[in-house]
Amino acid sequence: MVNVLIIVAVLVFLILVALMFGLGRRVDRGDDEADERQSIIHMSGVYSIVHKSPREDLLALRPRETEIRSYLNGVSADTQGVPLSHEDKSALLRHWKVWMETGLREIDKGDKDGLIFYYYDFTKPCPVCAGFIDKGNYVTREEIFRNPCLIPPFHLGCTCTLTAHQGSEKTVRETVLVGMLPFLKGGDEPSLPKWTNIVSLHGSAEAKG
Ligand SMILES: [Zn+2]
Repeated sequence: MVNVLIIVAVLVFLILVALMFGLGRRVDRGDDEADERQSIIHMSGVYSIVHKSPREDLLALRPRETEIRSYLNGVSADTQGVPLSHEDKSALLRHWKVWMETGLREIDKGDKDGLIFYYYDFTKPCPVCAGFIDKGNYVTREEIFRNPCLIPPFHLGCTCTLTAHQGSEKTVRETVLVGMLPFLKGGDEPSLPKWTNIVSLHGSAEAKG
């Protein structure tokens, strides 16, 4: 009889342990699932905001075509005194539009590939951008989201380009190949040339538009 009671007590104890263990696991899993779901929602929210095309915001910041046209009509030479013909001015306007599209397309492409870093380069040295931007300066996609003005061109005849960087945060910080350094330091506001600066496209591989 005592043996039977002991066996029953042990069984009850084992069942209780099994139940508590099972219950505990279910509760843990429930919490994990909730956390996971929460973080996915959170991440996708940030992701979709940051990866919204900067097109509209950029166009709102930049001068309209009519404004550029009338500005060009009123000047006879570029920032360095190089005379500008009527054709030169038309070429500058075309170049401005093509360059902006190129920058926006690069960001669209980078977003599709989930890229975070973009670096500046120049198709030829830009005398206006010198002192503002160095080749290899990089910006993050979030910085572009916050400051669409970071997308080239920065002024008429600007040869600055923005290219998506395939590497991770680690490689972008460690690379010494092109001396990649962050363009923005801390919470600094971007310091960029005014769009009214003009660099004549003379003799350059002019953009076709
Ligand atoms: Zn420039």
